[in-house]
Amino acid sequence: MFQPELEALEREPLERLVLERMRTTLGRLARAPAHARRLGGIRAEDIRRPEDWRRLPFLGKAELRDAYPFGLACAREDGYRRIHMSSGTTGNPILNPYTAADVEQWGEVMARCYVAAGVGPRDVIQITPSFGLFTGGFGFHYGAERLGAMVIPTGAGRTSLQLKLMRDLRATVVTAIATYPLRLLEVAREERFDLATLALRVGIFGSETWSDELRARIERDLRIRAFDIIGMTETGGPGLGIDCAARAGIHVWEDHYHVEIVDAATGAVLPDGAEGELVVSTLTRAGLPLVRYRTHDLTRVVSRARCDCGRTALRLDRLRGRTDDMVIFKGVNFYPRQVETVLLRQAGVSHEYQIVLDSAGGGERMTILVETEPGCDPAVAARVRRELHDLLALSPEVRLCALGELERPVGKAVRVVDRRATT
Ligand SMILES: [Zn+2]
Repeated sequence: MFQPELEALEREPLERLVLERMRTTLGRLARAPAHARRLGGIRAEDIRRPEDWRRLPFLGKAELRDAYPFGLACAREDGYRRIHMSSGTTGNPILNPYTAADVEQWGEVMARCYVAAGVGPRDVIQITPSFGLFTGGFGFHYGAERLGAMVIPTGAGRTSLQLKLMRDLRATVVTAIATYPLRLLEVAREERFDLATLALRVGIFGSETWSDELRARIERDLRIRAFDIIGMTETGGPGLGIDCAARAGIHVWEDHYHVEIVDAATGAVLPDGAEGELVVSTLTRAGLPLVRYRTHDLTRVVSRARCDCGRTALRLDRLRGRTDDMVIFKGVNFYPRQVETVLLRQAGVSHEYQIVLDSAGGGERMTILVETEPGCDPAVAARVRRELHDLLALSPEVRLCALGELERPVGKAVRVVDRRATT
């Protein structure tokens, strides 16, 4: 562990620390008029036990957008050292200003994540997310500096060069958005690059929803152990949590983040084990403290007991999807990840797929385009159709494509193309 005294803290002192930090956070917000108005008069001293936190109102994405650039920012008097921004598609972006203490905090939680993934000061870490407004590149960088490891800051793109540097500089760790390893594998195949010449041992991937089946394929083909890291611009970037060698859920650093799982429709807090929307409050962030921020991510609390790895930080299930990713087709609700799980169970089927919905000529149609390897049994299409019907009551058309036929997006994968008329 990077900080065993905190990561393995017993539940009781941990909850005392959380309570103290909840009060500090509220005290900080009370001095910011925009927040004070939102909080409806609830003050630090009203929080007597962690459950009292539930009395506070939720914070939504729209409110953060409307607050652009600094409407809900705090600690301006301390001076900001960094700005990061979410890659929103419409309207104002969500901006997160970091004080010096926030940059420190980020480095600390990221260093914990590295150590949970078995990474240490002797490792050589290749950072493939971009260094810019996106939080990926810098987050992995600050964590690596804290750890004292060597960094290869390649940033995004230039996949051939990535492979060359990875091999020649003996990178042992690769960090990336979750579908980027697929690009590495694809380019390696095209260029007949021998993956056996790499010294890679560990991959740390996040920022997209990826299935266990996809993880198994990446691990097999890149010959690494892959870890799932979570976090978002609003919470200060990646580093909210990561899974450990025990692979028993994603540890959330509870002394920095308070998480709740709520019913997405009613907002009611759900008991452990029940799936719902992840709500995050920050306990140590100064520039943009979050109180009960609705992330739209779907997950559940797996356990609050001590993990086999020794950490006591609660564990979440891997993210299943986002409330806004849910597809409704002919009255059936499903998430792209569920389709991915069925596809990747089949031999000869690639990880490149797209779910196309359209309503041309009346009536809704769903087509799954999926690339297959040469020599793949064509009967796989019927099998996918049958399994999707059994699992989700969907009856899509399944079209097998040749490798390389589907368009490759720059950045995050595009899994659903919805061309249905919106009237
Ligand atoms: Zn663990």
